[in-house]
Amino acid sequence: MLSADKALPLSAGIYSAAKRLSPVWIIFLLFCQGAFSTARAEKKFMIVIIDGARYTETFGDPNHTYIPNMWSLGSQGTYLSQFFNDSLTYTSRAIPALWCGAWTEVRDTLYNGNNTLYAVKPTIFEYYRGQKNVPPEDCFYVLKYINSLWLPSFHPDYGPPTWPRFHSVGSTDADVANETQWVMNTFHPNFLWVYLADVDGAGHSGVWSDYVAAIQSADSIVGVLWNALQADPFYQDSTYLFVTNDHGRHDDQHGGFSGHGDGCEGCRHIMFLALGPQIRPNYVSSQYRRTPDMAVTASALLDLNPEYATGEIMTEMLRLTGIDDRADQAPARSFTLKQNYPNPFNPNTTIEFTLQKPGFVSLTVYDLYGKEVAQLAADKLSAGAHRYQWNAQGMASGVYYFRLESAGRVQTRKALLLK
Ligand SMILES: [Zn+2]
Ligand SMILES: [Zn+2]
Repeated sequence: MLSADKALPLSAGIYSAAKRLSPVWIIFLLFCQGAFSTARAEKKFMIVIIDGARYTETFGDPNHTYIPNMWSLGSQGTYLSQFFNDSLTYTSRAIPALWCGAWTEVRDTLYNGNNTLYAVKPTIFEYYRGQKNVPPEDCFYVLKYINSLWLPSFHPDYGPPTWPRFHSVGSTDADVANETQWVMNTFHPNFLWVYLADVDGAGHSGVWSDYVAAIQSADSIVGVLWNALQADPFYQDSTYLFVTNDHGRHDDQHGGFSGHGDGCEGCRHIMFLALGPQIRPNYVSSQYRRTPDMAVTASALLDLNPEYATGEIMTEMLRLTGIDDRADQAPARSFTLKQNYPNPFNPNTTIEFTLQKPGFVSLTVYDLYGKEVAQLAADKLSAGAHRYQWNAQGMASGVYYFRLESAGRVQTRKALLLK
């Protein structure tokens, strides 16, 4: 049984040792911890899943009656108006899809004496711990007490050695919020997944006032957790927060809020809020996106390669400092930059463009964060077709941008390196 493991001999030991130290030593240790933390990982992530909230009661409500906190956080980040569960709108399949960045088969197993389910594809926790080689204390999954937790994968390349540390405690979303803050204060994990179950339970009760009260409670928890992140120098200004749902609930034409599980608009349409350093502020995206895109986008921001995932990186929500906000703009008249091929690529790809007139041309490659990683051309070129190769050997998997500039005009193409 994977349940609360609150035994803390190590941390408690450090804490009592700190009490015996002089203030100078404590300041020195804090300084070292800060320096070490920065070197360990600059990016932190919190993902909050609100089970079974319908879009019409969250961001789809023009008066945002039940989500005042998330609505106001929206101005600091991006929310998606067209995010959908595009497959099975029940929890036992949609949660693993959020974990895996793919719709995954789930199988029955017996684990520590309990019948439960596990995901067949690896999860973002496994990519995170496996690829960054970090201990379980860096990756927490916090939820209410459940005696048969659904499990990540047993994939031979990942599996149990790379599972998150589960804290399954309490019986309400408020308990989960308290536990999350305790975990943050105690372990300072870089990766936190928080699962709030009460909205779905209240929806199934069929009592409207209970259902919307649970949404209001989840909304205030998101506000509290974001404030807690911003109040802690470890997390402040370096932490991403994604908030989404596994599924919605039937719209009123298909049975109403007390149930879910089919393909109606109410069951499929869900919220997605993103905040953090590279997330566009005050932006509403109406691009169609779906459940598997969540973990793939989080992976890109964490420099992970979610190798078995099928989702796409939601680049429209990312801020591209130093380069153009829009990739794939309308072609400039004086030249045409084609899509690179192959794409995705590993590690070689070809970029072609055509110049209408001779002129000075620069072709530059940027990473997801707008940092220049290669200059392929900076020359006076003749009119006609030109072809360049880029070898991305040694670069991390993820999104790159090819930016062609000539005669004061710019065109950018987006490419995906997948190792
Ligand atoms: Zn349900
Ligand atoms: Zn439905």
